Amino acid sequence: MLPESPPAGTTVVPNRIGIEQVVEGDVCLRVTDPGTDDTVGWVPYHGEAIAREAVDAAAAALPAWRARPPGERADCLRRFAASMLAQQRVLARQLTREQGKPLTEAMGEIAYAASFLEWSAEEGRRLAGEWYHAHHSDKRILVLRQPLGVVAAITPWNFPAAMVTRKLGPALAVGCTVVLKPAEQAPLTALALAELALQAGIPPGVFNVVTGDADAIGRAWLGDARVRKLSFTGSTEVGRLLVARAATQLTRLSLELGGHAPLLVFEDADLDAAVRGAIAAKFRNAGQTCICPNRAYVHAAVADAFVARVRDQVAGMFLGHGLDDGVQVGPLIDDDAVAKVRAHLDDARDRGATVQCGGNIVQPRFNLTHRFCEPTVLTGLDPAMAIAREETFGPVLAVQTFEDDDHAIALANDTPWGLAAYAYTRELSRALRVAEALEFGIVGLNDTAVSNAQAPFGGLKHSGWGREGGKWGVEDYVDVKYVSIG
Ligand code: NAP
Repeated sequence: MLPESPPAGTTVVPNRIGIEQVVEGDVCLRVTDPGTDDTVGWVPYHGEAIAREAVDAAAAALPAWRARPPGERADCLRRFAASMLAQQRVLARQLTREQGKPLTEAMGEIAYAASFLEWSAEEGRRLAGEWYHAHHSDKRILVLRQPLGVVAAITPWNFPAAMVTRKLGPALAVGCTVVLKPAEQAPLTALALAELALQAGIPPGVFNVVTGDADAIGRAWLGDARVRKLSFTGSTEVGRLLVARAATQLTRLSLELGGHAPLLVFEDADLDAAVRGAIAAKFRNAGQTCICPNRAYVHAAVADAFVARVRDQVAGMFLGHGLDDGVQVGPLIDDDAVAKVRAHLDDARDRGATVQCGGNIVQPRFNLTHRFCEPTVLTGLDPAMAIAREETFGPVLAVQTFEDDDHAIALANDTPWGLAAYAYTRELSRALRVAEALEFGIVGLNDTAVSNAQAPFGGLKHSGWGREGGKWGVEDYVDVKYVSIG
């Protein structure tokens, strides 16, 4: 997206840096509704200078925030979560307008996002040290856990609230301060959260938001020795770039990157549950979710029944604008996303896939854009197809059959990505064997609703480093210090 000058008289939603609301310069980013192309708002287009100012503010706020008792920080986070829930509908409507997902999903995302603040508030209170006897009787070992300091966060557009609080909650709970750059497509939710944080009593400078030139902002933060960690959620391609740049200051990195989840349905599966799970995980957020199944491997004995049931339900799904009543699938985020989904559909058709339902990019009604992909089910998936090899990020489920367990596991693992995988079976020994064999950070057994504040979320291989959520997410924001006592 290119920066542009807003029309005279336009209100620009300012960045939040320390106590200041910052709008500088004459270029801004226009935030648009992907379903209508209507302008939803304008945000500043900042670069290195303001990114550094944000670190100044976070560094200045650090000593006082770090020194607060954990219970006080927890109180702030709980008030912040409560105000998100009090404003759930307002935040959700804005989220739907800038991002496109159906309002019911946006409501769910706000509640899910608040749950990271609540969980982290409690977990931060329990951050404990350790005390050991040493190898000499006159020595003791003390282990301290201390906040890292200033941490940076860069987030994607597909969960504009939850990807922010999943980083912010644990960071603030343990006493770090934060500089955040949200995605250009959906920055308004993050800016709204920054205002709510202030109102909840989180002091100025503790949570700062900068919008603008991602490359310049990222360079500024990775070149600044005061930034002790960067937590990134986004594509594997950008993740790789950040790894190289983090070498300068040896900045610690957490990377939540792309996925390409397989869904395995064995011949003994509860087919109704498998169909429900597949549809819920695949079509939410129009398939623009890092853990949504891209490829289903179904035992040949039950494949026809599985496909028929999925097709019957998917064909009836309501495609439209996220604020329209009853809509189940909204638009894709932008024209690049449309081009990728279209390319995967064309490639699959060219290589012999059968379209069971959907398969087209359409304009669902007058006054909407042409960024809507019909919920689609393909059969005849072949490992050579693009959709079998990489994340589609669209509402397309491709199905291939398998004959035995080893074949299914080999197909599932045949990818450089390793974020989430799912398996449906009623047999306990098979379930455990498959869970151990799948090379993924998250395995859903008879379950595709795997995201929550308590669990360690993260990937293997090209899907990233580190875990977010639960006690693991909190530990990522502390240094362990060993004190040897004579
Ligand atoms: P993206 O293009 O990598 O963008 C993610 C963020 O990185 C945005 O804020 C973007 O800023 C910023 N960015 C882009 N270039 C940068 C650079 N050179 N230096 C620093 N920052 C840079 O990814 P996306 O398309 O927004 O998000 C979709 C991807 O995220 C998918 O692959 C999905 O699987 C992954 N994802 C993973 C998880 C997980 O938990 N593993 C969760 C959600 C999404 P601009 O928007 O300003 O360009």
